[in-house]
Amino acid sequence: MTTNLLDLDPAGLASFFAALGEKPFRARQVSHWVHQRFAADVAAMSDLGKALRERLAHDVAIAAPAIVSDTTAADGPRKWLVDVGGANAIEAVYIPEDDRGTLCVSSQAGCALDCAFCSTGKQGFNRNLTTGEIVGQLWHANRALLADGTDAPWVEAGRAPITNVVMMGMGEPLANFDNVVRALALFLDDNAYGLSRRRVTLSTSGLVPQIDRLRDACPVALAVSLHAPTDALRDRLVPINRVHPLAELMAACVRYIEKAPRDFVTFEYVMLDGVNDADTQAHELLALVRGVPCKINLIPFNPFPGSEFRVSPRARIAAFQRLLTEGGLVTTIRKTRGDDIDAACGQLAGKVRDRTKRRLATRIPVVAAR
Ligand code: SAH
Ligand code: SF4
Repeated sequence: MTTNLLDLDPAGLASFFAALGEKPFRARQVSHWVHQRFAADVAAMSDLGKALRERLAHDVAIAAPAIVSDTTAADGPRKWLVDVGGANAIEAVYIPEDDRGTLCVSSQAGCALDCAFCSTGKQGFNRNLTTGEIVGQLWHANRALLADGTDAPWVEAGRAPITNVVMMGMGEPLANFDNVVRALALFLDDNAYGLSRRRVTLSTSGLVPQIDRLRDACPVALAVSLHAPTDALRDRLVPINRVHPLAELMAACVRYIEKAPRDFVTFEYVMLDGVNDADTQAHELLALVRGVPCKINLIPFNPFPGSEFRVSPRARIAAFQRLLTEGGLVTTIRKTRGDDIDAACGQLAGKVRDRTKRRLATRIPVVAAR
């Protein structure tokens, strides 16, 4: 059977070469070729020796998932629609900023957690992405950006243009724990992408047991999708709250910070007109997060076809921010970018087939969000 090198984390690559009777440095050499020089073929690995290359040519492939489309937004972001088989497609989005290039990576085809305001959630869940499909997004994006020649100021000649990764694309990364942790290991490994833990952020809707597991397995920067200051409202907006309510979630965040690369958690809060954006809710939010070292990131709601919400007016978002800031919380408003190509937060829809497969809604009744 052919092994896809993109599926192997550093430990997996080491045991693969050990099983071939090769020295450990071979694993590092191959990792450099694949993840730093973005080789698509073993034949290109000129320092491996002919016999080993021929052997590998039989045993391994570098199989990134196929790209269905590649679109660049007027304001800079670039979105790849990636075929992951069985009529499913997921999305990866590159977001260039002044001093860094960030890739927003997907972890599942669809999502079972059914948050009321999320386009991915509305599609239901098909399956977890493999490690290779997750890593393949970063591999492909770096390769494509290098091939096109980027003049971005942070890119050193011949080096990977992507400096930051956010696991904020389609899917709930902690519901695909093992494959995501293997991918994170490659993002961090010096022989692969070599990103620091602070430059890799995982966003979760709040799977408490897995937050604890991540803390032990691979503590990267953590963002938590809060979106509501009380259980009553969060139960409706983020249904997983009925399983792991706010008190448990806050406690898990405090535990996480003990090992996290940053000394705060980022709370994401989508601004929904008339739903979660009142002054009283800002005060409730301040009370909720008291004792949790955190920053707040307000995300203007991005509409998608069939969505039942409206974005809070700009002045309301500013007033909400002011209350939080006055209460002592560092609070930013996320810039909406890429919405002309449906690449903004929560607009990633991809194509999810057989969507009703395993939806949280089959276990927990969906309650109308208002
Ligand atoms: N499943 C993970 C990560 C993917 S979603 C999570 O829920 O955290 C990334 C972020 O976009 C989350 O904070 C999510 O709540 C937010 N989001 C989802 N739909 C949105 C929308 N329509 N407008 C703005 N943000 C949205
Ligand atoms: Fe899933 Fe996150 Fe969307 Fe909720 S917001 S449905 S957890 S992708």
